[in-house]
Amino acid sequence: MSSNEILFQRAQITTPGGVNSPVRAFRSVGGTPRFIKKAQGAYIWDAEDKKYIDYIGSWGPAILGHAHPEVIAAVQNAAEQGLSFGAPTEAEILMAEEICKLVPSIEQVRLVSSGTEATMSALRLARGATKRDKIIKFEGCYHGHADSLLVKAGSGLLTFGNPTSSGVPADFTKHTLVLDYNDSDQLEAAFSQFGSEIACVIVEPVAGNMNLIKATEGFLKTMRRLCTEHGSILIFDEVMCGFRVALGGAQSLYNIQPDLTALGKVIGGGLPVAAFGGKAEIMAHLAPLGGVYQAGTLSGNPVAVAAGLTTLKLIQAPEFYTNLSQQTQKLVDGFNSIAAELNIDFCADAIGGMFGIYFRKEVPVSFNQVMQANAATFNRFFHEMLERGIYLAPSAFEAGFVSAMHSDSVIETTINAARDSLRKIYM
Ligand code: PMP
Repeated sequence: MSSNEILFQRAQITTPGGVNSPVRAFRSVGGTPRFIKKAQGAYIWDAEDKKYIDYIGSWGPAILGHAHPEVIAAVQNAAEQGLSFGAPTEAEILMAEEICKLVPSIEQVRLVSSGTEATMSALRLARGATKRDKIIKFEGCYHGHADSLLVKAGSGLLTFGNPTSSGVPADFTKHTLVLDYNDSDQLEAAFSQFGSEIACVIVEPVAGNMNLIKATEGFLKTMRRLCTEHGSILIFDEVMCGFRVALGGAQSLYNIQPDLTALGKVIGGGLPVAAFGGKAEIMAHLAPLGGVYQAGTLSGNPVAVAAGLTTLKLIQAPEFYTNLSQQTQKLVDGFNSIAAELNIDFCADAIGGMFGIYFRKEVPVSFNQVMQANAATFNRFFHEMLERGIYLAPSAFEAGFVSAMHSDSVIETTINAARDSLRKIYM
């Protein structure tokens, strides 16, 4: 047995499924998860000391590449001053100031420790501020694992959703209306029926949890208009796309201001920091000022904030996002030219440092289209790539991530591996 296999067997004795977050178990692609020993720049190494080019980047945070020396130094310095105080620090003010500066729709922000906490709290805040219960989400968007967000569409149009996880009472999801992504007509219909009862709409403005799907401008504009007209709060869940597709997040690319934004991943630079923020008048409903309760022992943790703050500083370097987008685009252009060369149903798309690869002819714009992609072929491709030292997300329904350390030669190695893999699968 290989070292990865030995560790996987051992892990399963004391940890359900051997992992602390389900996608890591390789369930949908099959095979043995790689147990990671270390990571540096664009690379990670597994328990067998095999080196891979990493396109997961911890599912988004590693935008600078792994173990950036300035981030590591900041963490070490902070750790020497003490690990956690449970009292306010100046670093948290600096972090909040930086977020408010970079994301103009955010006037006030609260730091939490995970994306799940950020979206769950934003939702409670929206309900508390509007005194309404109903929320709208979109099929295929993931917003963490809070009860009322673990919902799939009901069996008819404009019906309330069904839990997607056991352990979530139907009573908890009966206020969640689940609509199709990029379908403005459904939004109009939902608001004309329930407008005055809708507390908020929550959306990934660039969806990265059903592979990569970009919202159309019309879809987000319709959503913004309807929320304003009906006094509902628009929440952009930018946990994944914030500081990933552009410095000011997806909202800066689409030029649409949500009322609240959830952030995570990149803003923690690899340590547990997430945040939610927005209009000051809405944020004033939060305890200790208002009646919406929210708290956290490790919120604004000094070591985590040191990593986040240093990351936020480094991504403001001139041309950072131009270069990141260029490298990601080179990768995607490479994939698309192989598809043309081999005449296969395969394509790729990118935005900022995020990309998607799809085993279908055209880039999908809806959840249904993504679901039609050939997942079995993806699974073969995943293993061919892994064999060649390329570590992609182990699921056909996840986006990929490029870092500032993905140099031309790293991208070229990846494209060559993809050509060899696809030839092997199709020829
Ligand atoms: N929202 C989005 C858009 C996400 O991608 C994720 C995590 N992938 C979350 C929320 C939840 O974040 P976390 O895993 O930090 O709880």
